Amino acid sequence: MSDGPTYGFDTLQIHAGARPDPATGARQTPIYQTTAYVFRDADHAAALFNLQEVGFIYSRLTNPTVAVLQERVATLEGGVGAVCCSSGHAAQIMALFPLMGPGCNVVASTRLYGGTVTQFSQTIKRFGWSAKFVDTDDLDAVKAAIDENTRAVFCESIANPGGYVTDIRALADVADAAGIPLIVDNTSATPYLCRPIEHGATLVVHSTTKYLTGNGTVTGGCIVDSGKFDWSANDKFPSLSEPETAYHGLKFHETFGPLAFTFHGIAIGLRDLGMTMNPQAAHYTLMGIETLSLRMERHVENAQKIAAWLEADDRVDYVTYAGLPSSPYHDRVKAHYPRGAGALFTFAVKGGYDACIKLVNALEIFSHVANLGDARSLIIHSASTTHRQLTPEQQEAAGAGPGVVRVSIGIEDADDLIADLDQALSKASA
Ligand SMILES: *Cc1c(COP(=O)(O)O)cnc(C)c1O
Repeated sequence: MSDGPTYGFDTLQIHAGARPDPATGARQTPIYQTTAYVFRDADHAAALFNLQEVGFIYSRLTNPTVAVLQERVATLEGGVGAVCCSSGHAAQIMALFPLMGPGCNVVASTRLYGGTVTQFSQTIKRFGWSAKFVDTDDLDAVKAAIDENTRAVFCESIANPGGYVTDIRALADVADAAGIPLIVDNTSATPYLCRPIEHGATLVVHSTTKYLTGNGTVTGGCIVDSGKFDWSANDKFPSLSEPETAYHGLKFHETFGPLAFTFHGIAIGLRDLGMTMNPQAAHYTLMGIETLSLRMERHVENAQKIAAWLEADDRVDYVTYAGLPSSPYHDRVKAHYPRGAGALFTFAVKGGYDACIKLVNALEIFSHVANLGDARSLIIHSASTTHRQLTPEQQEAAGAGPGVVRVSIGIEDADDLIADLDQALSKASA
């Protein structure tokens, strides 16, 4: 099919990027389990290496199965191109890589996936990059944090560990005024609940490990480019606007226009960083994406029911789900995320740390794991696991205090999930 703009999300999640296999007619996208591709002749090989012709050279750069996934995610997000890579964390480095250089910084939201906070506050320093963390609800603070070395603003749409949703448009306006891109991690929302590019984001990153795959089988990441940013409008992005010595002086923006970022991601990012997605992982994620909208509808419906049930329960102190009328972000959800606030939230158990531990141990359907976005319901007590290394103040700031658990609500029967929470809360408060 041609991916006309007239097709709806449910059609595109199954068809975008895929064609019957030209060699066999196979309807499902084959897993092209190959490292290299035979050149037609020496001229063909030269044209491919010169980026004069688009084709397959070597699977560190491009692979036909991965290419279908790239086109699918780009289409669902409303972008012009996408680069898949080995994990969500790889996607974040790959998104920053063309923009940054030693001495450059990214202004990042304080409300991020825990692993991203560590990656940004510690590990990127090895590249000479740094991050400044600000409350992205305070637009003046964001403006104040942006300096002449800032190369991007980074946030999550629906932020981990839950209960917070970003006003992407407001943040995009601040980034625009500063001449820098807004990068949105859309992992928890998925393009079904939120399409950040429509709200002004330049780049969207995903951990495809989560809802896009949807069954906890493979890790992967993706960077989608809106194609709308003018990389040559100022001198902040020389790797895209100036001759790039890492590719014999090629000017990516001049040569590839709106696809400059995507070509750079493949020709330099994947070529030299090597954080490549393998075709098996792309296959699992393509399978998952076919049912994305159906799963997200059920995830949201279940999360809404369970959050309301928990909020009304005496054994629970509070619930931070933005889909609840009690949430300070409820109006923002209605305005910007009309299909719902996702399926990730935290709740506080009366009895604190000990009660949380008992709850996690007593649950039977919920799995105690460090993951989210699985078809099955998951729970984690952050203070004793993912946030264990943090001080009590840092745990509270991250919404992961000792008396709080985080749930990722799956697509099982809501009544069964509620019954499971009910029996476990009884044991926790006994
Ligand atoms: C899991 C996650 C990541 C990191 O992705 P990996 O695939 O685990 O590397 C980044 N951001 C968010 C919001 C996540 O949930």
